Amino acid sequence: MKKVLITGAAGFLGSHLCDRFINEGFFVIGMDNFITGDEKNLYHLHNHPNFQFIEHDVTEFVSIDGELDYILHFASPASPIDYLKIPIQTLKVGSLGTHNLLGLAKAKKARILIASTSEVYGDPLVHPQTENYYGNVNTIGPRGVYDEAKRFQESITMAYHRFHGLETRIVRIFNTYGPRMRLNDGRVIPAFMGQALRGEDLTIFGDGSQTRSFCYVDDQVEGIYRLLLSDYSYPVNIGNPHEISIKEFAEEIIKLTNTHQKVVYKALPVDDPLQRQPDISLAKKILNWEPKVGREEGMKITFNYFKTFSQEDLFKSEH
Ligand code: NAD
Ligand code: UDP
Repeated sequence: MKKVLITGAAGFLGSHLCDRFINEGFFVIGMDNFITGDEKNLYHLHNHPNFQFIEHDVTEFVSIDGELDYILHFASPASPIDYLKIPIQTLKVGSLGTHNLLGLAKAKKARILIASTSEVYGDPLVHPQTENYYGNVNTIGPRGVYDEAKRFQESITMAYHRFHGLETRIVRIFNTYGPRMRLNDGRVIPAFMGQALRGEDLTIFGDGSQTRSFCYVDDQVEGIYRLLLSDYSYPVNIGNPHEISIKEFAEEIIKLTNTHQKVVYKALPVDDPLQRQPDISLAKKILNWEPKVGREEGMKITFNYFKTFSQEDLFKSEH
């Protein structure tokens, strides 16, 4: 039985990856320190014979008993309000945490896939974004802590690949959504859905003309799974190219939730990218992958998930 270590296992993407690898017949070790994760995301795996959980901060030395075949490094705050709140931890998990996991991969002769992001392109001057675009990041802006940690993460991963011959994979993830996102993590989908469920106005930042392209979690996990098992070591974009402005998206959410909320406009966060859309030609070519779940279907599933929250949870504010 192949063994895989998944960091960030109690988070949104990490917990879905645990499920997928268990379903594929792997033994999964989940690791997390719960800084932005939630142990509820893993409740269903308690006592599963092919799952083990280790509570650990990956910025500290990481040690695993026995053999290890694969590592998926997904630990990192991922929502702008999270990484603005914990900027140093964000820089550390992308840099020191990645270094520790690369060292572990080298010691175990394991293949490692690291979770990079469309944020490496910053506020992009090339549209849609292809993997060979170098990006436009403000190193000293408030988002720089995340973007630069991820850019460093890519550099050190390639250095281990070139210098130590380590088997490495880099996925550049574009905005992904689905069940198990935190209601109050500040990202636009839980934010709008939570507001609709609480009967509040939907908060559009800026004039809402900025665009994003939203990928459903099952499609993202499929892309990551195929990339890990491929022989391609350079970065690959995984996302859904169906682009929409935030203003139009708010209207879609109002329709989907069958509410009559108004929208209110708030200041655009500093360095908020104006447009974002993945070019997925490379993933199509080398992984034979493309997203299958449309926004309408994916949003319905996600809204049904948030509808299961109690009134108390809906009104509980973390920020
Ligand atoms: P998330 O916040 O739900 O999950 C991240 C998990 O990492 C949390 O459970 C958190 O507790 C854990 N973590 C953070 N620092 C840690 C540390 N030092 N040690 C151990 N665990 C730690 O976020 P997510 O959306 O699931 O994102 C997962 C990964 O995917 C991140 O690396 C993120 O940068 C990347 N990513 C996600 C998206 C997206 O749209 N969801 C887009 C681009 C990149
Ligand atoms: N956004 C918004 N209202 C909110 C939360 C987010 O208008 O309540 C905007 C945000 O400014 C950005 C887009 O929605 O332009 C996506 O934000 P998110 O935090 O989900 O992810 P990002 O792609 O910026 O990392």
